[in-house]
Amino acid sequence: MIKRVYSATLKNKPFLIIPHPFNDELFSSWLTRAAYAHHFHPQTFINLYFGIKNRGLFKNNVDAHLSDQMIQNIEKMVHNKINIFNLTLRSFSGILRENDIIDSPSIFLCKLRFCPHCLKENIPYFKHQWKLAFTTVCVKHQCFLQDLCPSCKTPLNIFKMYNNILSFSYCSQCGFDLKKSPTKNIHSRFKTSMFAINILHQGLYQGYIQLGDSIVYLFCFMDVVTQLSKLILSKRNFAFLHTHPLFLLLNGAMKKTIKSNQPIHLQLNIIENFALFGLILYLFEDYPNNFEKFVRMNHLTHWDMTRDLRHISFWYETLVNSISPRYVAFGNMVTNEEIKHARHYLLSLGKLGNKANLTQLFGNINFFNKYQLN
Ligand SMILES: [Zn+2]
Ligand SMILES: [Zn+2]
Repeated sequence: MIKRVYSATLKNKPFLIIPHPFNDELFSSWLTRAAYAHHFHPQTFINLYFGIKNRGLFKNNVDAHLSDQMIQNIEKMVHNKINIFNLTLRSFSGILRENDIIDSPSIFLCKLRFCPHCLKENIPYFKHQWKLAFTTVCVKHQCFLQDLCPSCKTPLNIFKMYNNILSFSYCSQCGFDLKKSPTKNIHSRFKTSMFAINILHQGLYQGYIQLGDSIVYLFCFMDVVTQLSKLILSKRNFAFLHTHPLFLLLNGAMKKTIKSNQPIHLQLNIIENFALFGLILYLFEDYPNNFEKFVRMNHLTHWDMTRDLRHISFWYETLVNSISPRYVAFGNMVTNEEIKHARHYLLSLGKLGNKANLTQLFGNINFFNKYQLN
């Protein structure tokens, strides 16, 4: 591959070869294949077509950070034949998060993962789904995804090439063929838990998930997933969940100090994430019974269930309230005005407006005792 060539002549010029994106292909994967097709090293290709000054824009999670301006530039360079925005993770904005993914890229995004069998099939490429924290297994090949080279344990960097020769299906650090990575198969007792991934993937493409009779926007549900992750792992509320087979896979995570001020999924490995997301989705099976058992058995209050949510969706507020009602300070106090009206009501019924009758009318709660009954 051609490397270390510096020339201003190609900057912002149309690509000579425009690879067609594969199904669910990630922007960085497509761009790297475009560079290979031009016989350039990906980093050299970026320097030549976008300018050395802009090369920094292609580092640090470019799939979540690519700016609107750069997306428009690239679309022009490919004669508007390809929707570049759809290749980036920003296409999940409004679905996975209510706001643009560019504003909160660490939420539910992870290091790039891969399935050795998928890389082996046809021409290797990397998928959108492999950047999502809850995509922990390949449903097609029934194996765990991987995010490190099995030989040297280095995370993937698909813009780099081992010895400037080997493509992104080889580790850029040691040259190991990632297609030959030993597969970590999923034990049969955990296979039913793959439904969790299917539900969330389906949610990504429809924008919502269905819980009982409720249609819930995926981003509202994912906020709740974040809250439940903290309750389970950093606050250690394990009752009801501890008998589920997936709980065994969290053994390693139990020994870690889980910080609640950092995304929980970034503190776990792939198998632990598989267990955590599976357990959280299990809480929404037999809806709303499992969720209710979890709240009651861990003695969780409305405050526990909602404290870290910036916005509480109506669906979740209703669900939690039905199990553990919100406590409103002074909410059980009766005002002078209410007592006055209640006395009129009692008198209209021919009853005495005394303390005993008022207490009965207010449902045995204490009313405002400064009110002077005469
Ligand atoms: Zn696969
Ligand atoms: Zn390696």
